[in-house]
Amino acid sequence: MYKIGIGYDIHKLTVGRDLIIGGVKITHEKGLLGHSDADVLVHAVIDGMLGALCLSDIGTLFPDTDEVYKDADSTLLLKKVYELVKSKNYAIENIDSNIIAQKPKMMPYIPKMKEVLCEVLGISQDRFSIKAKTNEKMDAVGQELAIEAQAVVLLKKI
Ligand SMILES: [Zn+2]
Repeated sequence: MYKIGIGYDIHKLTVGRDLIIGGVKITHEKGLLGHSDADVLVHAVIDGMLGALCLSDIGTLFPDTDEVYKDADSTLLLKKVYELVKSKNYAIENIDSNIIAQKPKMMPYIPKMKEVLCEVLGISQDRFSIKAKTNEKMDAVGQELAIEAQAVVLLKKI
């Protein structure tokens, strides 16, 4: 038995914040604004997992009004959510994801992101795909005002 979920997230780029995507710190003059570390990719993956099991969403589970999650390391939230998934007797079959950013180039960081996130989830790297896109200089992402991520998560009953 399989369950599939889709996750989407977007955060605004702003000066004075670290840019953390896929659990990796990226060198850039701006970072993503958010209550937690604003890791847009991890948030999309979390929502994909929660969506697959109809367990609401990241904002409901980890409210941005809760001081506990201020500047929280999103990989810890990811770990927590995957524990929840496993407690419902499901495991990750595979994840496919996109990071949409005009700048900086994501490609050099993708191997490290895969390493970090697969380690957190305890899955092999052939189960987690991360792709990078730009928005061809169009819209808020293309104009470097924001970074977006999408994820599809397939879970298998264990
Ligand atoms: Zn987010």
